[in-house]
Amino acid sequence: MTNTMQLRFLSVPENVGLARVSIAALAGQASFSLNDIDEIKVAVSEAVSNAIIHGYRGQNDGWVEVAGTLDPHGITIVVEDFGVGIRDIEQARQPSYSTDPERMGLGFVFMESFMHGLNVQSTVGKGTRVEMQRFVTIQGELSRDAQ
Ligand code: ATP
Ligand code: MG
Repeated sequence: MTNTMQLRFLSVPENVGLARVSIAALAGQASFSLNDIDEIKVAVSEAVSNAIIHGYRGQNDGWVEVAGTLDPHGITIVVEDFGVGIRDIEQARQPSYSTDPERMGLGFVFMESFMHGLNVQSTVGKGTRVEMQRFVTIQGELSRDAQ
């Protein structure tokens, strides 16, 4: 199965749910388990929440773009914002690191643990692009298609 979709929406917190269900519906076209899809939804929620909360500092007039691509290996998801950007990506990805003392600093940790690949690119003042991959697996092994 090969398919692709793109979404572009304002940085309104309600749109986290929009991204979640859209990605879940796309992932549902591949042979992911319900548990896989739940984990993919968590990863997407974390990336989109970060775009809204950090990228646009909670302002609701920024654009967030979410793209999903299915191929025989699995799904690739890109979440992009055009907000403040991240000064030190390595530091931002550390468990428990947050620029907001009220937060847990676990978003990137969830994305990393639930996905098979995570790539973060960012430019201060320009924005942030998070690309994640999840492969279709069978009983914990990569499926024959994916090898
Ligand atoms: P949690 O996700 O547990 O609520 P958090 O959002 O602070 O807390 P992470 O999602 O791991 O934790 O992100 C770590 C830090 O990286 C954030 O505190 C923020 O400083 C920075 N960051 C993450 N995403 C973005 C983004 N899209 N734009 C700007 N900064 C970001
Ligand atoms: Mg976060």
